[in-house]
Parts: sequence; C-alpha cells; structure tokens
Amino acid sequence: MKSVYFSGPRRPFEVRDEDMPEPGPCEVRISTRASGVCGTDIHYWTGILPLASPWVLGHEPVGVVDALGPGVTSLRIGDRVGVSWVQEGCGRCRWCQIRKPDYCADQYSWMTLGGGHREFMIARAAGCTLLPEALDWRIAAPLFCAGYTVMSGYRNASPKPGDRIGVIGIGGLGHLAIQIAKAYGHEVIGITSQEVKRKEILQIGADEALVVRNHVGKELADAGGVDVLLSTSNLMRYNSEAIAGIRREGKLISMAIGKDAIAIDPLHLLDHQISIVGSQQCGRNDLVEVLELAARGKVTPMIEVYRPDAINEVMARLADGKVRYRAVLDFGGA
Ligand SMILES: [Zn+2]
Ligand SMILES: [Zn+2]
Repeated sequence: MKSVYFSGPRRPFEVRDEDMPEPGPCEVRISTRASGVCGTDIHYWTGILPLASPWVLGHEPVGVVDALGPGVTSLRIGDRVGVSWVQEGCGRCRWCQIRKPDYCADQYSWMTLGGGHREFMIARAAGCTLLPEALDWRIAAPLFCAGYTVMSGYRNASPKPGDRIGVIGIGGLGHLAIQIAKAYGHEVIGITSQEVKRKEILQIGADEALVVRNHVGKELADAGGVDVLLSTSNLMRYNSEAIAGIRREGKLISMAIGKDAIAIDPLHLLDHQISIVGSQQCGRNDLVEVLELAARGKVTPMIEVYRPDAINEVMARLADGKVRYRAVLDFGGA
C-alpha cells in the first residue's frame, strides 16, 4: 500500500510502498477514500511548526473501516468514517475526566499514530466519527478540520438570532464560515483586501462583500459594523485593526495562527465591552453539527481534487495561496 511521506521542511514529499498496517487494541484500520490537505500542513512544510520526519501528514481523512483491533465494539467493518485531529485523550487527566480530550496533554492524534495521506491508516476507534449517508467522500474530508474548526468558532461566539456576522480571511476556513453563518440565518459580510474576491464572497453566499481600501475597522464600521467577527486570517495586525468594526458587546473569534500579537486599546476594549476569543476544534458535537449541515446541503466545501502523487503540486499551490478553497487527495474507491 502507498503512503505519502513528509521528508522534512522544504523537501519534496515522497510516495512510498509499505506493508499493510494491523490495528492494535482499541484501533481500527481504515481504507482511505479521501484526505484533505490543510493550511496547517504548510506550517510543517515551511518548518514554522516542528515535526520529526519522515512522517505521514493528513488530519482530514475519511474512508471505510476495514479491520477492527481487539476490544473495538463501537465500529463495524464497512462503516464510513472520518478521523479528527484529536482522536482520544489519555483517559486519566482532569480534562479527560470532564470529557474534554481536546485539552489532554497526552492525546492520540495523527502526530502519534500517523496521518491519513495513505491508502490504509490506523486510527483509534474513539477518534472516528460516522459520516452521514448522503455525504460524498471528497466533500466530507475538509469538514474534519476546516469545517470542524469554523463550526466551533461559530459556537464559541454564542451568536444571537439577528446578530450580524463578519468573516475575515476568505480561504479554506473562511468560505465555510460564511456558509455556516448563512445556514443559521445571519446577515453575513465577507471582508477581503482583494478586489478579485468580491465576486467569490457573494457566490459563496454572503449578503455583502467589503473590499478594504485602507483601514479595515473603520470601513467595516462605516458598513454598519458586526456583532461577531469570525477571523481566519493569520495577519494579526489586520485583525487588530478590524476590532474597530465590531459593535458594542461584540466578539472577535480568532481561529488562525500568526506571528504578530492581537492589539487593542484598553479604553476601547472596556468602553465597547469587546470580547476576544481564541477558538479551535472544541468538542465532537461541533464536528457532528457541521457534518449534518453538509449532509443537508447547507454547507459545501469548495474543493480541488488531486491524486495522492500530486502532493508536491498541491503544497506549492497551497503555499502560494492559490487553492480554491480546499485541496483533497482522492484515494479512489466508492
Ligand atoms: Zn487542519
Ligand atoms: Zn488526558
């Protein structure tokens, strides 16, 4: 069976032939159908985030369970599943005791078990989430990181009906944020600095596109402001500026990694009672929610599909910001 290996920062990925893996206790083997390529993978490839190599990336895999390890009772052979970044906690720490394995310091993930860019992968049974019947493999894959992250961002904002929602960073995550906010009936404004994205923002479903000329916050305020600003932009100075466009008692939800700090004038912070909330994947209920939205056609990742051996082309496009909006490796199979 073939696996796509990360060979170290700035080095080409390699496709290798390997023996079929066997699942251990509490594990399953999955015949991979599709595996999403996430923007985070670029951080490993550029070396911003450390990762020992060689290693198999891929934290958005979906496929069919084809072997059960000892002790697995929750899954059956033939189940259609996807695997999220955090698969299971240690089961013993305080976070695990209160059923928040995402915070466990000793968790199972693609970083301990190997990722999904391979024809057959091993996952914890507890790391698998069943896919709704209606969902195409290639549409389902990006929901396991991008969709999940943004769904948690929306939930962490606790938006009220009628809240106006802004989305900054119209890419792999942002295009899903627009769709999720629309699915729940909000008025949505997509914010970009690129004129070329105006049409795309409206096609994705936003009510309005704001193309920023100079100061994102002032221009957003002039456009009426927002109650919730969902940011997937890694430009923290841009996010800081944007705070001026958040209404009183509004929230900035920050879902991206960036080099700079988020800065806010403390007087503005207290006077406007702004909340700044860091947000990542935050509970499997959010993942199930976005899968169900997708199955009902309310949220559909826009994807580019590639063969697994095109990984180096995919990474180059991703690094150049050319992917619209999510790249998926197609491993074939019904
Ligand atoms: Zn990801
Ligand atoms: Zn734990």
